[in-house]
Amino acid sequence: MKRAIVVGAGVGGLATACRLAHQGYEVVVFEARHQVGGRLGELRLNGYRFDMGPTLLMMLEPLERLFRDLNRRIEDYLEIVLIDPSYRVYFGDGTVFDSTPCVARMVREISQKIDPSEVPGYLSLMADLSAMYHTVVPAFVRKQYYSLADLFSPYQVSLLVRHRLLSNLWRGVKRYVRDPRLQMLFSFQTMYLGLSPQDALWVYGVLTYMESGEGVWYPRGGMHRLPTALAQIAQEEGAQIHLNTPVRQVVVEQGRAVGVQLASGEVVRADVVVLNTDAPTAYQQLLPPTPLAKRSWRNSCSALMFYIGYRGTLPHQLHHNVYFSQDFDQNLRELFREGRVPTDPSFYTCLSNRTDPDDAPEGCENLYVLVPVPNLTGEDARANVERVLNRVVERVGLERKRMEFVQTYTPHDWGAMGLWQGAAFGIAHNFFQSTAFRPSPKTPFEGCYLVGASTQPGNGIPMVLISAELVAERVGALGRK
Ligand SMILES: Cc1cc2nc3c(=O)[nH]c(=O)nc-3n(C[C@H](O)[C@H](O)[C@H](O)COP(=O)(O)OP(=O)(O)OC[C@H]3O[C@@H](n4cnc5c(N)ncnc54)[C@H](O)[C@@H]3O)c2cc1C
Repeated sequence: MKRAIVVGAGVGGLATACRLAHQGYEVVVFEARHQVGGRLGELRLNGYRFDMGPTLLMMLEPLERLFRDLNRRIEDYLEIVLIDPSYRVYFGDGTVFDSTPCVARMVREISQKIDPSEVPGYLSLMADLSAMYHTVVPAFVRKQYYSLADLFSPYQVSLLVRHRLLSNLWRGVKRYVRDPRLQMLFSFQTMYLGLSPQDALWVYGVLTYMESGEGVWYPRGGMHRLPTALAQIAQEEGAQIHLNTPVRQVVVEQGRAVGVQLASGEVVRADVVVLNTDAPTAYQQLLPPTPLAKRSWRNSCSALMFYIGYRGTLPHQLHHNVYFSQDFDQNLRELFREGRVPTDPSFYTCLSNRTDPDDAPEGCENLYVLVPVPNLTGEDARANVERVLNRVVERVGLERKRMEFVQTYTPHDWGAMGLWQGAAFGIAHNFFQSTAFRPSPKTPFEGCYLVGASTQPGNGIPMVLISAELVAERVGALGRK
């Protein structure tokens, strides 16, 4: 039986492990940390449970496809529920707006809270984004790029033109809705990729569609249930998963990966090595020198996190909540252009105990706060923790004396997880780091592959699951048992 080593048990590593084990490989996963999931880690403290990274499960299709390919039923492992309203939005001017994938309720919300004359613009924006989404995903996202020619076929060029894919998202949304609050609402989703909506290509409007069109989902028990389920399936398929086992380097002989060396010094040999390490880190630290190690990637922003055990209730908060800065332009400029921790940052909060009451003790809330801040190349978020926390306390209306604990996670912590420059969302999604230009699943070394958020097709759980599909397909093409 051929052996495959997977370095890292993030969603990408685990999905690849499941697929390769199912293809007949003997799979061994080495994970540096004490738990599976990577960015989908879990924190348990004093009776509270928090997901540490992702909280929004969108675009279910790649997950459903994974289970189908593994001959399994998703409902035997995960109970996935729709969160509706998707989230409550607090605009800087005091407007409170509930965003929902239900068109009827969204129309009502826009009419009552914003302006009824904006409804036709919302409807035609969703129609155009939906049409783009359903053509872009098969044509550009779930696609093997063997060369740049694979990006510029006549069909793809026609799509680029027809859907204006390379135009600007921020300006594009303004063609549909006039109200600045709706413009923010229908474009800020690029911040999930650590990308300013003002700098994003129109094609990233697919994120707006994924959220407003298909909805936001959640696996009961927490997002961490997702990697736990994948780890269980990988093991059912015969894979071994070793936690607390960092890999020091890939062993390469005559241009071919033949195994890995663990931090302990032990060498483990294999026919295939798949790295779930962030792509720049993999090229700079785990693989022999190549020009790719020197390439200066543009990076996404990072995230300052607060996990707060709160003795008391916050009835105005839903499962997901978004707080926009009073001056969103300034927020984006400070964050993305000046590399500063914003003066008045926009932020996001999550209370998973709204859906999973056991996530907090009775009468308490498990408040998760995500504040987009610069990565390690910008201003040091650690020096601004108190200032930012004060702003969160003020806007959410928290009482300090009820805050049982505040666990803080900074860009330095994301960096310690192997994310290059502490960028929580991997390398940026500008034109020259998207599609065929993004790091390929195949490294220059025979038998060595990359899976995860900084590779094709990109960041976010659904993209990473597709990345695992692309890798497994390429490995499968090499031959099986
Ligand atoms: C705060 C935050 C919020 C997010 N919110 C969302 C969201 O709501 N929805 C969404 O879809 N996406 C979200 N994302 C993005 C999502 O988390 C990522 O796209 C996805 O989890 C990345 O998975 P991955 O497999 O690429 O790698 P990772 O999760 O980064 O896992 C990589 C694993 O490899 C291990 N590793 C690295 N180097 C080594 C080594 N040398 N030896 C052994 N092990 C190693 C690491 O320890 C880690 O466990 C969010 C990300 C962050 C940070």
